[in-house]
Amino acid sequence: MELNDLVIPQKELGLRLNMLAVLGRRSFVNLQNLKKAMGDLTANFSEREFRCPCCDASKIDVGFVDRLQFARERIGKSMSINSGYRCFSHNRTVGGVDNSSHVIGLAADISCTNSSDRMLFLSILPEFFNRIGVTSKFIHVDVDDAKSPDVLWLYPPKK
Ligand SMILES: [Zn+2]
Repeated sequence: MELNDLVIPQKELGLRLNMLAVLGRRSFVNLQNLKKAMGDLTANFSEREFRCPCCDASKIDVGFVDRLQFARERIGKSMSINSGYRCFSHNRTVGGVDNSSHVIGLAADISCTNSSDRMLFLSILPEFFNRIGVTSKFIHVDVDDAKSPDVLWLYPPKK
């Protein structure tokens, strides 16, 4: 078995990690490389993608990221996170509302700039998220229970 083969279906990953564990210390190095290549939160997402760009602060709900991962697997295409966690100050800088779900680590904006990707993403995302906002640059999803469920909104254009 090739331990450096990074394209591993997720269901096989657990089995392979168990094998790596019994192969000893030398394989541990490979395990670290594997984790880096695959994302440290889920198969495709890493914690750093969700950090606040102004201060590097990190606070993202792991259940939320799991949900993004399921959506990403159904979509079958890479997803780039435009904005994840925002500290209060950065949220104000980018014009976010003060009760933004980004400030509590329950939201992400997924880059989406063309109409065919928008069609694809919006055909799948509602299976996993019941709060979705759309702009010409990204699609916002969140799992903020404090807000209305089952809503799809558009943003006013930025001045
Ligand atoms: Zn910040």
